[in-house]
Amino acid sequence: MAKKKRILVKFSGEALAGENGFGIEPSVLSYIAREIESLLKADVEVGIVIGGGNIIRGVSASEGGIIRRTSGDYMGMLATVINAVAMQEALEHIGLDVRVQSAIEIKEICESYIYRRAIRHLEKGRVVIFAAGTGNPFFTTDTTATLRAVEIGADYVIKATKVDGVFDKDPNKFQDAKKLDVISYDSALAENIKVMDDTAIALAKDNRLPIVVCNMFKKGNLLEIVVNGGGICSIVK
Ligand code: UDP
Repeated sequence: MAKKKRILVKFSGEALAGENGFGIEPSVLSYIAREIESLLKADVEVGIVIGGGNIIRGVSASEGGIIRRTSGDYMGMLATVINAVAMQEALEHIGLDVRVQSAIEIKEICESYIYRRAIRHLEKGRVVIFAAGTGNPFFTTDTTATLRAVEIGADYVIKATKVDGVFDKDPNKFQDAKKLDVISYDSALAENIKVMDDTAIALAKDNRLPIVVCNMFKKGNLLEIVVNGGGICSIVK
């Protein structure tokens, strides 16, 4: 039997907030759930990492000097659990099987991250949402996504954003920004393109994990990229 495709999709917490910039917008949850469903229908195994920036980020929480960075980061990790539970609801609402696995034990709410168990869920066609980041302060959910993708043997990690891929400069600020279709890990690191943070890119590089950057809000784009090898995206490899 042909090996199934296995991917890990990462999107930021801010994506869940929709226009509000804060909290969780149900219509966005539903939209993402449908996009994920299309992948499962095409027999793709899907892991998900969601950020927490729509609720709190460690760095900003600690800016006033009252909350220490480490505590701020733990607060950020908890925020990702909130998002993961919301996403689980949206996916289950349309009939998909989902498990949330947290890097920090919160057994009343979800499973703890157990690598072998995660693989088993994926093989059974369940979506696995990896929550609470890496479980360590001073990391990001981009690094979490890369780490989990490597652990579960994903074919690649998809960084789902609001833009079409990686550009030589900020496409929101510069009209002549050019989209880069393929970028090497080294130039992603050296040129400060900020596809992901350096820790995440270095981990991907060491493990030869391609990073696909794409617009999640173009309907059907995820499916096109993963199943048909088309779609609009940039690849770091
Ligand atoms: N975080 C952490 N360790 C991790 C992952 C996340 O400490 O392994 C914290 C960190 O404070 C981060 C917050 O969780 O700012 C939310 O994650 P992130 O900023 O990556 O979310 P996004 O920007 O993708 O919404």
